[in-house]
Amino acid sequence: MIVVLKRGMSPQDLERLKRKIEDLGCTYEVYGDEEPLLRIRSNQHRIARDFILSQPGVQDVFRLTSGHPLANKGHATESTVVAIGDYRLEPDHFLVIAGPCAVESEEQIDEIARALSQVGVRVLRGGAFKPRTSPYSFQGLGESGLRYLRAAADRTGMKIVTEALSSSELPLVSEYTDILQIGSRNMQNFPLLKAAGKQNRPVLLKRGMNATVEEFLLAAEYVLESGNRNVLLCERGIRTFEKATRNTLDINAVPLIKQISHLPILVDPSHASGKRNLILPLSRAALAAGADGIMIEVHNHPDAAKSDGSQSIDFAAFNEVLASVKAFAPLLAKKVM
Ligand code: PEP
Ligand code: MN
Repeated sequence: MIVVLKRGMSPQDLERLKRKIEDLGCTYEVYGDEEPLLRIRSNQHRIARDFILSQPGVQDVFRLTSGHPLANKGHATESTVVAIGDYRLEPDHFLVIAGPCAVESEEQIDEIARALSQVGVRVLRGGAFKPRTSPYSFQGLGESGLRYLRAAADRTGMKIVTEALSSSELPLVSEYTDILQIGSRNMQNFPLLKAAGKQNRPVLLKRGMNATVEEFLLAAEYVLESGNRNVLLCERGIRTFEKATRNTLDINAVPLIKQISHLPILVDPSHASGKRNLILPLSRAALAAGADGIMIEVHNHPDAAKSDGSQSIDFAAFNEVLASVKAFAPLLAKKVM
């Protein structure tokens, strides 16, 4: 059983609550600073939910019937609205995040940021630490990449999302970024998930390419449980027997997760398909399926990109995607942001 405590619950009320739980023969632990939680560990059956709910300082109580209670709708009735700087990703928004797979140079990211911000893109993507399948592939520019990305975003008034590959580099990435990305290959890196849960930044969590929806939500639960409630999920395609595309976009996952969870979910058609000529139809599919946005790889010279060129689109193709989702969005009562 999880007891959500009110922010600013008085220490006296907390002590009284603990004593009542002990008197019932139960053990518990309290954790989280900003939004503290109390987890009752043993003999939960001895406790009536209404009894705990009626105690001063208690906001909500729920039983662990699901493995991911914090990610589930039961916990928060409203959809989670993630704040990205001054911008809030509301449930009727369709957020378009765009940028290169990797930051390659100061000039490259600057040119891309300018072109994208001119057409209204507010969140710029770009990897500085790249999780590459081969150690011989371009690994990213590291901290200088973060610096170029931050500067390009600041010059254009954009926000950024970039990936941290390990908990040890998380503080460094956090210094520069607005949104912390946890990549597909790291979806079950539990120390990283816990560390991201302690950061004061929204987390964009990508679905593991071999992960079920249940495992995906459990990964989100790690971040939520560690204290960070600002989680954006991202469906980026899963591995199937199909070889015609890099991955298979599991479009099912979008409405399914919208039914189970209060967390926003984005779609990444670039990694899902690996093919630039599929980005437009898959972006439309994401919108139609009820996604809260898309994240697309856009490059100033896609054929010369140091990573993921074949799935990256140029500015003209991106503008077509943008125009298309803008045309369809009103049908779904969504606004493209
Ligand atoms: C990325 O978005 O840069 C990336 C590496 O994606 P994924 O983790 O989904 O493969
Ligand atoms: Mn990529």
